[in-house]
Amino acid sequence: MFAEAAAYGIDIDVDDRAVERLLSVGPADVEVADGLTFARNVFVPLTTACRYTCTYCTYYDVPGEASLLSPEEVRERCRVGADAGCTEALFTFGDEPDDRYTRIHETLDEWGFDSIHDYLYRACEIALEEGLLPHSNPGDLTEETFRDLREVNASMGVMLETTADVDAHAGGRRKTPGQRLNTIRAAGRQDVPFTTGILVGIGEGWRDRAESLLAIRELHERHGHVQEVIVQNVVPNERSDFAKPDLETMRRVVAMARTALPPEVSVQVPPNLSPAADLVDCGIDDLGGVSPVTDDYVNPQYAWPDLEGLRTVADAGGIPLRERLPTYVRYLPADLRPADADPAPDPATRDAWLPPAVADRIRADDVHGRRLRAVARGEGPLDPRPARGD
Ligand code: SF4
Repeated sequence: MFAEAAAYGIDIDVDDRAVERLLSVGPADVEVADGLTFARNVFVPLTTACRYTCTYCTYYDVPGEASLLSPEEVRERCRVGADAGCTEALFTFGDEPDDRYTRIHETLDEWGFDSIHDYLYRACEIALEEGLLPHSNPGDLTEETFRDLREVNASMGVMLETTADVDAHAGGRRKTPGQRLNTIRAAGRQDVPFTTGILVGIGEGWRDRAESLLAIRELHERHGHVQEVIVQNVVPNERSDFAKPDLETMRRVVAMARTALPPEVSVQVPPNLSPAADLVDCGIDDLGGVSPVTDDYVNPQYAWPDLEGLRTVADAGGIPLRERLPTYVRYLPADLRPADADPAPDPATRDAWLPPAVADRIRADDVHGRRLRAVARGEGPLDPRPARGD
């Protein structure tokens, strides 16, 4: 079915009739959400090395030019973010650097780390020490690596992008739908609250969009772990000239996402890339991570809106704007969850969705713990620059 799916034992069979039904959905078939959420984050691009070369991507650097943040740089970024009222450290890199990135591997070795994932674990610990909740997007992972990294992450993510085999992923080293679906499944098997999404305009068709959304739904129905699905449009940049999808396309695909996914799964559009105010009546209920202190390093030409810009989007739908943690409230333990929030079903393999290190960070009796708990209770948007006290 999907490229390389069989190699990973992916047994998702999207029903043709469900695809047809979804293809008939439009904006008039969905309702405005009850509210709009966002998370305040600091972007930490741990490395710009990536084994792949997706044609629409400006994030990766070729071997010899790729950067690697030092532990001190990670700590400084996290400290600046926490001081600016952020709750989330967004750790991102493309996909595990392959053998071509000799300098990256030598540096990691000098610092005492076996791999980029080993180093990511330490970087997440630094974020927790500085008062932030880590959300990592490290590309394709195995179940074993999720088992390790979940110990220090509030949530994690990878974009499915599409179940289609598109030329945009062409080349000797290419990511495949089978790998991505395998990663989303591996996260589910390890009970990791998870973010995924589709990328619109990279050569996929309408049927591919419907199949991608239904494949995500299928994995969520099995594991209960998908907290949000991003509907992201491609944007032109200096490496590619993909046309930005027009508004009618985005309105239709957002409505399809809202219809395909269960109500507990949020539908998100990135407000620096999408005309969010014109999509709010198509069922979006989240604007994702927005940073008061760092650029969107994946799309550096597209600046984040400020708080007033986010309020404008919410106002367009006549709905309230609320700040959230990187972990959605239904995955939080009972003592940290608002009383009126429904909990997610218990995780399959452990006592709680949230690992002890992250729950302890939120419960800590310090300025950061108080900020995190206030956001969990839905008291935001908070003053973005709280005093750094204790
Ligand atoms: S889109 Fe992601 S996987 Fe593809 S080249 Fe860029 S960083 Fe790597």
